Amino acid sequence: MNKRARTAYRNWTFLCFMLFGFVLTLNGFGGGLFSNEPLPSQQPQSLQAAQQPVAKTIQTNQVTAAKAPAVASKPKPQPPVKKPAPKPAPAAKTGVAIAATPQPVPTIVPAPAPAPAPVPAPAPQKVAAAYPASTKYGHFAYREAPSGSLSKVQGVWMHRETAQAFRQMVADAERSGAYIVPVSGFRGVSLQGELFENQIARKGSIQRAALVSAPPGHSEHHTGYAIDIGDADNPGTHVEMSFEQTPSFRWLNQNAPRYGFELSFPLGNRQGISYEPWHWRYVGSSASANVFAVARNL
Ligand SMILES: [Zn+2]
Repeated sequence: MNKRARTAYRNWTFLCFMLFGFVLTLNGFGGGLFSNEPLPSQQPQSLQAAQQPVAKTIQTNQVTAAKAPAVASKPKPQPPVKKPAPKPAPAAKTGVAIAATPQPVPTIVPAPAPAPAPVPAPAPQKVAAAYPASTKYGHFAYREAPSGSLSKVQGVWMHRETAQAFRQMVADAERSGAYIVPVSGFRGVSLQGELFENQIARKGSIQRAALVSAPPGHSEHHTGYAIDIGDADNPGTHVEMSFEQTPSFRWLNQNAPRYGFELSFPLGNRQGISYEPWHWRYVGSSASANVFAVARNL
């Protein structure tokens, strides 16, 4: 090999070496200008496209796993809430909320139901049976008749309407052989108070006294329309139950209503007052009927 050939070979080798070095430099720092391969930094894009399903699957799993407590905590209470209704067994998981819901309901419901019903029921029924509303021991309140409205019949004061009807009744009963007489008529509140106190002392209690007498302010005798009737031939039966056996009572029982009189306290009267066959009230006028309207419609 001559000198020229060696020089050419050396130059060619140098050029090849430089070219090789240049290529290496470009590949190393230039980003692979001569290569279609993506750079390491660019690979993820292409890899992401290719690995998206895998990556997303992993991410989804990771997200699901990571968000599991948060997401699961919201839907979890829903299934346990549905469960407690059909399955009260999982009390340990459901814990306080579910256990507290069913427990107070049965506890509260049965408690008030039986308690109030039986207790107050018998009390007002007994009171209502013994004493009607707006009465004092069964007696309604009545006003005293004005003195100007009173008239005297055989020494007994009574309302002039009562007196007129009673006089006619006495005359008609006498023609039938019954001699009725007035025993008691109008009575003031003060006198009624004295009589009632005597009855309390005799009977031993207000309630027992009220069975046969009225508290002051609650006697029909205050009105002048009520009178106690006796049999003139049997004075021992006055204001006694035996009056029922006299001719006067039998006549009154059949005829008194035609004169506007009626028994105030017949047997089984709703006011709960003892039977008084001698006590009659006049209801033959609108005024007198109005006075006793409440008692008559009881
Ligand atoms: Zn009387």
